[in-house]
Amino acid sequence: MTIHALPRSTQVLVVGGGPAGASAAWHCAQLGLDVTLLDRAEFPRSKPCAEYVSPEGARILSAMGALELLESQAAPLTGMVVNAPSGDQIRGEFVARHGFRGFRDRGLGITRMVLDATLLERARAAGVRVIERAKVTDVLRDGTGSVSGVRLQHDNASCELTSSMVVGADGLRSVIARRVGLARHARWPKRVALVAHYRDVADMTSLGEMHVTSHGYVGLADVANGVTNVALVINAHDAKAMHGDPTAFLDAWISRHSVLAARFRSAHRVSAVHATGPFASRARCAWAPGVALVGDAADFYDPFTGEGIYSALVGGELLAPFVHEAVRASSAARSALALGGYERARRDSFIGKWRVERLIGLAVSSPKLMNAAARVLSRNRDLSDLLIGITGDFVPASAMLSPRTLWRAARAVASQSISFNRAGYVDRR
Ligand SMILES: Cc1cc2nc3c(=O)[nH]c(=O)nc-3n(C[C@H](O)[C@H](O)[C@H](O)COP(=O)(O)OP(=O)(O)OC[C@H]3O[C@@H](n4cnc5c(N)ncnc54)[C@H](O)[C@@H]3O)c2cc1C
Repeated sequence: MTIHALPRSTQVLVVGGGPAGASAAWHCAQLGLDVTLLDRAEFPRSKPCAEYVSPEGARILSAMGALELLESQAAPLTGMVVNAPSGDQIRGEFVARHGFRGFRDRGLGITRMVLDATLLERARAAGVRVIERAKVTDVLRDGTGSVSGVRLQHDNASCELTSSMVVGADGLRSVIARRVGLARHARWPKRVALVAHYRDVADMTSLGEMHVTSHGYVGLADVANGVTNVALVINAHDAKAMHGDPTAFLDAWISRHSVLAARFRSAHRVSAVHATGPFASRARCAWAPGVALVGDAADFYDPFTGEGIYSALVGGELLAPFVHEAVRASSAARSALALGGYERARRDSFIGKWRVERLIGLAVSSPKLMNAAARVLSRNRDLSDLLIGITGDFVPASAMLSPRTLWRAARAVASQSISFNRAGYVDRR
């Protein structure tokens, strides 16, 4: 569809057609709302990502009618293995003795070219008007200061569209969040990533892999058809050594890592190396009058736990009824009340994950902490299955943070003769 065929006004304008935007638009359309989605890109488009969708993410994919289409183009992932700098290995599988089950027993390794284009098609099929190559540059405001639409560039022309609600699903550097003053960039951890596809990486299995070193971590995941996704994440400070050549940097990083170097001996890269970052951000709040944020625009998850796509999908599902209420509201005050409800619902849904994700982020930033955690978890399969289940989005975070589990973890620490000193470091007694 071209912009010229659009009505000048729509009930809901969704900015961004990634997983968050496609899900929000699809769920809003299901509630009978008139929805237009704008994306600056033309789909299919690639997106730097480790391309793993958690077992519970399948629930929303299924609701949107996308799961069967995607499963046939994805590699199944049955769990995760995390290699600590010490060499200890945390191994967890999604089907485990804890008894929690996801919507599917497996996650999906799938390229974002396929995933995002498929989700956008599902939104289109649900009646959403989708306009590609439409870059939003600013928000419009009504006399009260409430957001009432957007300004955009399309085919070298600038135009304006008005709406009752704008949904900012425009990712990490959300222009919507910045224009309404909701963006907040965290000072720590500041990381950048290099992502590429390889063929013929040796010894790939159905487990996603993380290799943590004192200079960042690299994830490997099968994304079907013999292709492996390789995602290296390093501190922004260390990225200066890249000197504008991410390809040489990634090659050198892999060859310095002896275990990986052996597995990449016969591998060849089949995509460009994409660099992205720095990424650490969380919006002050996920709404302002006339606007709501979802997905990375609202809150970025560290790639280590691979939860961003699920959070984007579920965020869209969570948001839609509040948008519906806000659009139908008889006054600005009632609309604000509805959007305040969205903020509380987000907190209730995500608070546990935020805590676990921040804890994992802390461990990943400190090799000593990571080694200590790996020493405990490598000898406690039940605990590591539980943790992997949380990152798989089907075990509630409370299961890990419960007093009983924390007590078990403490006993495990004690029985491994591990102690934490006041600086948080770990010594063997
Ligand atoms: C290195 C790395 C690895 C990751 N690995 C994983 C993983 O394995 N699993 C996982 O679940 N998550 C992972 N994530 C996180 C995941 O990629 C994101 O959380 C997810 O893409 C968020 O979806 P979104 O729809 O909010 O944003 P995006 O996917 O970024 O989509 C935003 C869309 O908005 C559009 N847009 C942006 N600005 C404008 C504008 N001004 N006007 C119009 N359109 C605009 C963009 O073109 C884009 O299509 C990873 C992230 C990184 C950086």
